[in-house]
Amino acid sequence: CHIDYQAPSTLLEGRVILVTGASAGIGRAAALAFAAHGATVVLLGRSVSRLKVVYDAIESSGAPQPAIFPLNLESATSLDYQAVADKLSSEFGRLDGVLHNASILGERLSVEDANLETWAQVMQVNFTATLGLTQALLPLLASAERASVVFTSSSVGRKGRANWGAYSTSKFATEGLMQILADERRDGPVRFNSLNPGATRTAMRQAAYPEEDPQSVRAPEEILPTYLWLMGDDSLHANGEMFDAQPPRG
Ligand code: NDP
Repeated sequence: CHIDYQAPSTLLEGRVILVTGASAGIGRAAALAFAAHGATVVLLGRSVSRLKVVYDAIESSGAPQPAIFPLNLESATSLDYQAVADKLSSEFGRLDGVLHNASILGERLSVEDANLETWAQVMQVNFTATLGLTQALLPLLASAERASVVFTSSSVGRKGRANWGAYSTSKFATEGLMQILADERRDGPVRFNSLNPGATRTAMRQAAYPEEDPQSVRAPEEILPTYLWLMGDDSLHANGEMFDAQPPRG
C-alpha cells in the first residue's frame, strides 16, 4: 500500500540510521532526506570516493555529521557484518534504523539461459548480504527503544516476471526474510517492513529500461515520503507489511 505523508522536520532527531548503497540513486536521496530530518546517517557502500560526495553534501547542509562505512557486499562475509555492528556500537552506541537499499540488477535472461554464477552473485549482494547484516545488527537494534528495518523490494519481488530471474528471486527472498523476522520478533522493539520504490530515475532503472525516457519516471527525491514514514514513529504500528513508495500507475 502507498502512504501519503508529510514528515515533520524533526522526525528523526537523535536517531542513528544505516543506509546501504548510499552512494547513488535512491539510497543517496534517502540518506540526504534522513539527515535533513535530523538523523545521523551511516553511509555504507563499496566506493569511499562516491560516498564522500554524499557525506560532503550532508555535512555542508548543516545536518548532523554522517559517517562512512565502506563495504563491498559482493565479497562481504559474516566477519564483515559483525565488524559493521561492532563499529556502530563503539562509535554511536545505538542504531535506530536500517534501510537495506543496495542491489544489483544482474543479467536479464530466461531461467534456461541464466548463468548460475551470476545468479548467485545477485543473490549475494541483494539477499545474503542483507540477511548477514541484519543478523549481526539485531542485538544493537533490539537495544533501541524502537527501531525500524526497511527492506527494499520491487514489483518483481511480489510477482514473478519472465527474464528477471536472479533479481526477482533475490527480492522474493528479501520479502520472505522480512516476514519471518517480523513474526519471530513481533513483540520486540524492532519492526520489519518492505518497500517497493516503483519506477525511479536511477542508473539501475536506465540499465533495465534503456529505451525509456528517464524524464517519464519520478526522480529519487520525489518518492521519499514513504521512506521517512517507515523510519519515523508514525509507522510504529506497521510490522511485517509490504509498502509502495508510489501510488499505482494508471
Ligand atoms: P542504483 O544502481 O542507482 O544504486 C545502487 C546502490 O547500491 C549504489 O549506491 C551502489 O553503489 C550500491 N551497490 C551496488 N553493489 C554494491 C556492492 N557490491 N556493495 C555495496 N554497495 C553496492 O540503484 P537504485 O537506486 O535504482 O536502486 C535502489 C534500490 O531500489 C535497489 O534495492 C533496487 O533493487 C530497488 N528498486 C529500484 C527501482 C528503480 O526504478 N530504480 C525499482 C524497484 C526497486 P555504487 O555507487 O558503488 O555502484
